[in-house]
Parts: sequence; C-alpha cells; structure tokens
Amino acid sequence: MNSSRATALKECLYCENDFIPKRSDAKFCSSKCRHDAGNLKKRKERDDRELIVGETHRVLWKNRNILLNHLGETVSWDTLKAKGFNFKIHTEIRNIDKASHYGYYDIWLFSSKKKSLQNL
Ligand SMILES: [Zn+2]
Repeated sequence: MNSSRATALKECLYCENDFIPKRSDAKFCSSKCRHDAGNLKKRKERDDRELIVGETHRVLWKNRNILLNHLGETVSWDTLKAKGFNFKIHTEIRNIDKASHYGYYDIWLFSSKKKSLQNL
C-alpha cells in the first residue's frame, strides 16, 4: 500500500472499515454508519437509564415494604438495618418541627434524637 494513501485513510468509528474521508473531521464512512452510531448511543443511554432507575426504584420499594410492616411503630435503626433497609435512598426529605422526615413514596419516617425512627 502506498504510504501517502494510507495516511489519508481513516477507520470508521462504527463499522471499523477504512475509508477515504471527504472532510478532515469525518468519523464515519457513510451517513448510514453515522445514523446507526447515533441510534446505538441513544439505545445505550436508555439502557443505562433504565438500569439505574430500575435499581433505585427496587431499593425504594424494598424500603417502603419494610416500613409497611412497622406502620405506627417506633423502630430502631438496627431493626431496619437487619431487614436490609437502605438508609441512603429515599424519595424526599422534609424538615418539620426541626425533625427530618424521610419519604418512601407514600410512607414517611422521622428520625428522633434516640436514633429510632417513628413511622407515620
Ligand atoms: Zn462505517
């Protein structure tokens, strides 16, 4: 292969075939590859979003179901922890009467000074 021609070739970022670029900033060999690459990127972003949102929803739902079993009770952190409660994830925090209230969709908790949680 002629070396001056070899330097002019680029590798398509999508199909990985060599091509002669029409513009110096060309990344794809064809408009089809450019479109397919764009669709692939969008699909990957959607898959990532669904994975992350799905996992967060699963944790929130588990927290909510743990609390449902203790409606109206005062529960220790250890009891919730033992059931797999995830303290980092909640849907909302509200500050009412200087106490933090944590929301898990429709179920609310507030943290008391005794490090226990009152289920509302
Ligand atoms: Zn291509």
